[in-house]
Amino acid sequence: MGDKIKVQFLKKTKIIATISNNNCEPDFLESLYWAGMNAVRLNTAHQTPEEALVVVNKIRAVSDRIAILIDTKGPEIRTTESDEEVTVQTGDKLIVKGAKDDKMSAECICVSYDEITKDISVGNTLLVDDGEVELEVLENTGEHLVCEVKNDGVIKGRKSVNVPSVKINLPSLTPKDIEFIRFAAKHDIDFIAHSFVRNKDDVLAVQKILDEENSPICIIAKIENREGVDNVDQILDHCYGIMVARGDLAIEVPAEQIPLLQKSLVQKCIDRRKPVIIATQMLQSMINSPRPTRAEVSDVANACLDGTDAIMLSGETAYGKYPLEAVKMMAKIAWEIGQGHETFIDAPYESSQIVTSYLAKAAIKASLRLQTKAIVADSISGRTIRSMAAYRGKSPIYAQCYSKRVVRELALSYGIVPHFIEEDFTSHQFLRITISRLLKEERFGEDDLITVLAGHFGPESGASYIEISTVRNMLKRGH
Ligand code: PEP
Repeated sequence: MGDKIKVQFLKKTKIIATISNNNCEPDFLESLYWAGMNAVRLNTAHQTPEEALVVVNKIRAVSDRIAILIDTKGPEIRTTESDEEVTVQTGDKLIVKGAKDDKMSAECICVSYDEITKDISVGNTLLVDDGEVELEVLENTGEHLVCEVKNDGVIKGRKSVNVPSVKINLPSLTPKDIEFIRFAAKHDIDFIAHSFVRNKDDVLAVQKILDEENSPICIIAKIENREGVDNVDQILDHCYGIMVARGDLAIEVPAEQIPLLQKSLVQKCIDRRKPVIIATQMLQSMINSPRPTRAEVSDVANACLDGTDAIMLSGETAYGKYPLEAVKMMAKIAWEIGQGHETFIDAPYESSQIVTSYLAKAAIKASLRLQTKAIVADSISGRTIRSMAAYRGKSPIYAQCYSKRVVRELALSYGIVPHFIEEDFTSHQFLRITISRLLKEERFGEDDLITVLAGHFGPESGASYIEISTVRNMLKRGH
């Protein structure tokens, strides 16, 4: 088995790379794919639907296994357009006004949220451009805010404005978001990652448009403020998975709280069988440097050790100087942790599908005790497979899927190697075909023990048994 196969298909933690329309040639995307990229994120804050479509078509030209995730802008506040950069000094007094159609200037810093004075109180903090400039609100006249600058810096146009721990009453979806969700449905995209999800209603607003479009797209809720953290249980009831969007999250809540928050969000998702992505600044220095810092390597490794399903690159691959090196580095770390660290997470049974859940746990436990080389299973919706992934076992789980969409959905699940099978076979036929293929691909040898989780009553009825034997025996029985 070649190194390429190992890195692309057998590392446990999956990799998402953010790709921009300025750098998306198929050769480049193919090199990222073979370096270990499983999914691509398109950040619509920086793209039009026409530009996004160019990227989507190029990704599809490389492989139909690469999942595509469209990231919305969501309810965010930004400074408005500006003809000048505003240099500010500690102690300066500034006027901040909600006026989305006005240009900002040194006299008045305009922001995209017209109603800002309704949500903000004296004493609140505004953090501009990911915290580059901090402002303290001294006065709220109802028309505008008077703020004091807390550090020297520069305020530019179209930069983020965060208001830590304050409930902002912006609608969940901007017109641009709605346009992109309809675009995603039309072009059969796999995931919508919705920004600044605060509660279940923000997820349901996206789901409503998807339902109108009759679309099966899965929603990933980006958790990036205090409200999202506090409401994560109700959010998880309605979304497919979450992204721990640490860029904004570490501004909205104190940065030192992020490591423990990350661990608890990952654990919650594992328990609920919901894929979880850790995002932002994972290999940030590789935007300009061919090697990561030691701290970045540890950050990526720790996310893998937490058991996250996927890790994400942003600027590193969207506009950095070393995108291929960044994916290779991430894949090497994920590979190393996946091989060197044996885990079993005792996730609680899912009450809604107790038989599958019980069999899934038993399959992973048996596989660990008997050191089987692989787990083979089929799945219509991917649910049985995600149920097994939750236990974070050692053997790769070779998931045979009857739809290419499910193959791509599983591109975000820990330890899963999904594969499309054309037809609906009986369980014996599917096993023989799959095991023969995997044997040919040298994923295991004839004398190796493997675990099978399958059903005697057709794929719709789900899993009904576990079988453990050598590959040779499995193949004999298949005939
Ligand atoms: C983040 O804030 O961490 C994030 C992933 O969101 P974006 O890149 O869209 O700002």
